[in-house]
Amino acid sequence: MKILVPVKRVVDYNVKVRVKADGTGVDIANVKMSMNPFDEIAVEEALRLKEAGNADEVIAVSIGVQQCQETLRTALAMGADRAILVKTDEVVEPLAVAKILAKIADEEGTDLVILGKQAIDDDSNQTGQMLAALTGRPQGTFASEVVLEGGKIAITREVDGGLETISINLPAVVTADLRLNEPRYASLPNIMKAKRKPLDEKSVEDYGVDLTPRHKILAVSEPAAREAGVKVADVAELVEKLKAAGAI
Ligand code: AMP
Repeated sequence: MKILVPVKRVVDYNVKVRVKADGTGVDIANVKMSMNPFDEIAVEEALRLKEAGNADEVIAVSIGVQQCQETLRTALAMGADRAILVKTDEVVEPLAVAKILAKIADEEGTDLVILGKQAIDDDSNQTGQMLAALTGRPQGTFASEVVLEGGKIAITREVDGGLETISINLPAVVTADLRLNEPRYASLPNIMKAKRKPLDEKSVEDYGVDLTPRHKILAVSEPAAREAGVKVADVAELVEKLKAAGAI
């Protein structure tokens, strides 16, 4: 079984993003970039399935600028077997990503695609679902547990008020939630080994996908600044203030 894991290069989750002065987006110049955290979880899950003898190959793919190579090398250092960079300097919306992934999944004959549930830059939470629709494959989203059982896969999903377990047929699309696993760190020897693993470079034209954006960003703004709080002398004053504010 082959597993495809799409990994996105995003602003590192520790970075406090700044909105550009002209309000057209966020400033990513000289900002630390890393693999989307949900994608690290997806890579980890794919590796665990391989280590348990359920998969033969784990292929990482990233769509974006040349520097996405670094993200792919991280996936290779974690243990992925090979990588594909679909290089473009254009903005790639989730639908275009899903269309490219659909072509790769088909070309590579992958039985399972494990994505992150969402990319933390745009918070779209769309790509996995669109990929499932485009390929006609069943989907298990927000997975907190994945168990392979023959030609089927049991997915435990985090839903409001509890957990839901579903069974879907392979080939399938799964999206990883936070509690699925704790991703491993790449060891130094594995980082060195990753440099020699195959990384194919492709262009968007190779997949014949039109990247023309379907939506236009009208404005991006900072969250409103929080108003300063006040100190109260005692509980009685707190209750009085809450009543006056209509909070109780
Ligand atoms: P999104 O729908 O944008 O929130 O992204 C969901 C998931 O799709 C991510 O966690 C990645 O696994 C995958 N993905 C989105 N954009 C890209 C990209 N440019 N390259 C590779 N994978 C991507």
